[in-house]
Amino acid sequence: MVMKKLLLVSFCSLVAQQCFCWGFYAHKKINYYAVFLLPPEMVILYKKNIDFITDHAVDPDKRRYAVPEEGPRHYIDIDHYGKYPYDSLPRKWDDAVAKYSEDSLNAYGIVPWWLQTMLSRLTNAFKEKNQAKILKLSAEMGHYISDSHVPLHANTNHNGQLTDQKGIHGFWESRIPELLAEKEWDFFIGKAVYIKNTADFIWKRVLESGAAADTVLNYEKELTKGFPSDQKFSFEDRNGLTIHQYSSEFSIKYNEQLKGMIERRMRQSIFAVASFWYTAWVNAGQPDLTKLSNKEFSAGDLKEFENLNTTWKKGAIKGREETPIP
Ligand SMILES: [Zn+2]
Repeated sequence: MVMKKLLLVSFCSLVAQQCFCWGFYAHKKINYYAVFLLPPEMVILYKKNIDFITDHAVDPDKRRYAVPEEGPRHYIDIDHYGKYPYDSLPRKWDDAVAKYSEDSLNAYGIVPWWLQTMLSRLTNAFKEKNQAKILKLSAEMGHYISDSHVPLHANTNHNGQLTDQKGIHGFWESRIPELLAEKEWDFFIGKAVYIKNTADFIWKRVLESGAAADTVLNYEKELTKGFPSDQKFSFEDRNGLTIHQYSSEFSIKYNEQLKGMIERRMRQSIFAVASFWYTAWVNAGQPDLTKLSNKEFSAGDLKEFENLNTTWKKGAIKGREETPIP
């Protein structure tokens, strides 16, 4: 029994530690809330399928365990390219490939470019009036947009590994939202808007993320210095399990010092996700979403969902054996 509990604790710690993206919790919330920003012509489809849009917000993270090319789509180590605003890095994919090579771009992450691919796929799905594709691509695009809003997704020191702050990634994007979002944060956000230049929009968000990364890292370091070392972490209950994690006191203090940054980035993510869905629909000629084909997921789709779950669970367990508990 004790062994089983320990295994569960380590499994959960690792799942939390290894998803280097908004945690599963936040990704799902972002996609969920984004549905309510859509115009009535779109809400009719998205609200009916809100469980799918919410649950499948995390598919791209699950795919990281199965497909090697998946990893770089979630981040960009923008600081690798010199100094803010990184003018030497071409914003257009072809120009960037010509300058740095595709291999090198992949090594440092490609999220701003990958989002353009996702947007054109979703636009085509709307044009084809293919419901299954629209839902799958909407859920997944929401994921990548949200990732681009996370400061540590735009920095080489993405988990504090270079500054002895390992675990800060999950702290910022999982631990704190799970602790505070439901009780204290406000997700009442206006309406989705049409984005004329989607590439510009995403690059701006990525640059903001990159610029905030130092604050995320430095504030944690400073707070740690002035905090009783035996109170930084604690064993606390989560969903009926005892988890070793950043203590509530430390988390709340850190969040106060960041002055609402995490809530703000989550709100901006929700707005951006809804606006990208809306933009794809407008660019496709605003098709009537009550008259779609392919309403059921194909056998291939269902198999893919199942495979994602299986490889993710296996990957998380394999990771558990290789990585010590934080
Ligand atoms: Zn991700």
